[in-house]
Amino acid sequence: MKKTVYYIEGDGIGPEVWKAARPVLEKAVEKACAKEEQLEWVELLAGEKAFAETGEYLPQNTIDTLATARLAMKGPLATPVSGGFRSLNVTLRQTLDLYACIRPIRYFQGIESPLKRPDLVDMVVFRENTEDVYAGLEWAANTPEALRLISFLQEELKVKIAGDSALGLKPVTEKGCKRLIRKALQYALDQKRTSLTLVHKGNIMKFTEGAFRNWGYELAREEFSGQCVTEGEALNDDKRIIIKDRIADAMFQEVLIRPEQYSVIATTNLNGDYLSDALAAQVGGLGLAPGVNMSDDLAFFEPTHGTAPTIAGKDMANPGSLILSGAMLLEHVGWGEAAQLVYNAVEKVIASKKVTVDLASQIEGAKQVGCREFGELVAENI
Ligand code: NAD
Repeated sequence: MKKTVYYIEGDGIGPEVWKAARPVLEKAVEKACAKEEQLEWVELLAGEKAFAETGEYLPQNTIDTLATARLAMKGPLATPVSGGFRSLNVTLRQTLDLYACIRPIRYFQGIESPLKRPDLVDMVVFRENTEDVYAGLEWAANTPEALRLISFLQEELKVKIAGDSALGLKPVTEKGCKRLIRKALQYALDQKRTSLTLVHKGNIMKFTEGAFRNWGYELAREEFSGQCVTEGEALNDDKRIIIKDRIADAMFQEVLIRPEQYSVIATTNLNGDYLSDALAAQVGGLGLAPGVNMSDDLAFFEPTHGTAPTIAGKDMANPGSLILSGAMLLEHVGWGEAAQLVYNAVEKVIASKKVTVDLASQIEGAKQVGCREFGELVAENI
């Protein structure tokens, strides 16, 4: 059966990584799947290309189509820092209720890493994607809205707060936390993983981050009893999923020092953003960091990296992250054999030390290749 994949090319390095990645995925499907199993690509516009063609950065047609789609894939989209338009990525995640951002982090043999034992890194981060300080509820200092909210806080809630503060809200709901943690725990069970770690900053932000932790334990107890156990109650050689929690700052140290102790991670939006980039760096950087944003209906695959404006258009970008996001898509639709071909081919090309500049600079004796050539090499190895 054909699988329709709606795709957005993206800005910056988006078009070049797409050109390199798509033939790889097609070849893997052709090799591993039955003749009638094919990917059918349908382009949707967003970002600079959409603006050039329609005068809008996120045309309504794109949102409407994605609202009923099951599968999509995108390149990175640019967002101006402070001011300008709101992040298209955040808008897409919120409009389509893509509440779970899932980023697997694994090591490929041959990559030089800042870690002594990068091969011990094998984690999957589930990041809540719609709430927290990313909800977009912010007011600039001294605006009428900020002043009104500050006077409410001072007068009604007797809160001490400087009158000229800029304000941001951090909404965190039980429903939002539990549906993310449920997905992470179900994944841990399905994939026979060893543990789920709830990462939070609940010692300081007790009612938001602390609540995330508490709701996590509550969900595990109420919905997965018998299948998981808390760290404190686990027996020697326990086969159940071990539920642990770690404070976010300590977790950054833990994943460096004891990566083997962490498997599936569930965390709030901001923590997850930081942690998944840091973990990607431990195994070779953003060029090999795939991901997916999921609602209950739509799986929207995307690389973790951004538009890399300084190397855009120079055939220097690493298309690995988009290629691996595509492999996740193949796994998601049940074409695991095709996905495995992609993983093996990426591994082989890296082992041959023919890599893009981001990796070449880290690997002794590497031969630097361009974005296009790296894609071709991966395709040849399928
Ligand atoms: P970035 O990921 O674009 O770049 C960070 C660093 O990594 C740069 O040195 C870049 O050259 C390098 N890099 C990134 N991807 C690479 C690749 N595939 N191959 C080789 N090197 C790569 O992050 P940034 O500079 O913070 O952001 C640039 C723009 O991208 C901003 O507008 C930001 O909002 C946007 N962004 C979009 C997404 C997304 O669409 N999901 C994610 C992150 C950033």
